[in-house]
Amino acid sequence: MEDVIIIGAGLSGLSTAYQLKKAGIHFKILEAQNRLGGRIQTIRGKQNTHMEMGATWFSKEHVHLTKLLSELNIGYFEQFTEGIALFETMSFEPPQQYFVPANSHSAYRIKGGSISIIDELNNLIGKENIVLNTEVIGIVEEDHKIKISDSLNNHFFCNYLIIALPPKLAINTLEFTPKLPPGLKEVMMKTQTWMSGSIKFSVEYKKPFWKDNGFSGSVYSQSGLATEIYDHCNFENSKFALKGFLNVSANHYTQKERKEKVIAQLIRYFGQEVENFESYNDKIWNDKYIQPKEDTFLPPHFNNGHSIYEDSYMNGKLLFTGTETSKTFSGYMEAAVIASNVVAKRILKLMAH
Ligand SMILES: Cc1cc2nc3c(=O)[nH]c(=O)nc-3n(C[C@H](O)[C@H](O)[C@H](O)COP(=O)(O)OP(=O)(O)OC[C@H]3O[C@@H](n4cnc5c(N)ncnc54)[C@H](O)[C@@H]3O)c2cc1C
Repeated sequence: MEDVIIIGAGLSGLSTAYQLKKAGIHFKILEAQNRLGGRIQTIRGKQNTHMEMGATWFSKEHVHLTKLLSELNIGYFEQFTEGIALFETMSFEPPQQYFVPANSHSAYRIKGGSISIIDELNNLIGKENIVLNTEVIGIVEEDHKIKISDSLNNHFFCNYLIIALPPKLAINTLEFTPKLPPGLKEVMMKTQTWMSGSIKFSVEYKKPFWKDNGFSGSVYSQSGLATEIYDHCNFENSKFALKGFLNVSANHYTQKERKEKVIAQLIRYFGQEVENFESYNDKIWNDKYIQPKEDTFLPPHFNNGHSIYEDSYMNGKLLFTGTETSKTFSGYMEAAVIASNVVAKRILKLMAH
């Protein structure tokens, strides 16, 4: 029996656990996948280049995230944007060129990759408190406790449960007994999950030839499969890559087809050197850990930060966190940290009574 169980080891679940650990509360995190981080996923290429398949950038306004980074002793650096940027409106016309000066301070990236924050939280929380490969399917309120069941029929018990999943995913995949209030269910069904369905790609190189030729690596295209492209070299400028987003229609192609189309598009901008890539990767964010099977379209950020997530349920034993529950910066890493600070404070208050 745990004081607290947290479902989901994304940034929200892990930073909630970190707050609880500091307060000396016993908890366990249950995570469906065999990795931590959820929508933060940094992979490594052939040259060991860190490449972000998920969350990458933040701004100086994201003060809760930057505070957590400094508390964890993790540095950050400015996104490289200096040089010729390209804007392509039509595939049959050369892209427009414009020059971006140094130090535009538009966005920042985490040193060592966004995964650094996940790795450090993991170290501080303690591996023994995290249970991987545990896909929760059922939540039952029993007398004075909550029973949680996973897909392998394991059971876990706690006094307080925190759900750190996108609400729309939670209501579609978890069975609640007794059922959640209809008003809550309705809002959860209609809370948009940020970046669900989006597609990111990265191409790794031995040399940053685009920079050597005066290009920043930034491209905005209204006609290519890759809609946004950015330089993705590391802080030390010793590992080199380009990274960006694909149009969601790219999920109709095989990965081989996507790779061929992206490489052909990059050749149009940066020349034949593009062909000598070390590795190509992409990820479609539509798996069962982010998107329910029957998904319906909702406008971006729809119902994010709804006040219904400020309440507790199952007689005060069930609480919600996660980036979609925050009123400010919802969808972003900043909101995941804000939401985890809020829920941890609420749990401490409840436990003090
Ligand atoms: C492609 C992409 C690009 C992004 N870019 C940026 C960016 O540049 N800047 C930014 O600030 N944010 C960005 N984001 C958003 C950012 O990733 C999220 O705000 C943040 O990571 C959300 O954290 P979370 O813990 O709330 O949710 P999640 O990361 O979604 O965590 C939920 C966790 O629950 C687990 N889970 C799901 N179902 C179950 C179950 N049944 N049982 C147990 N566990 C389960 C999942 O595996 C996951 O680990 C991006 C996201 C994506 C996908």
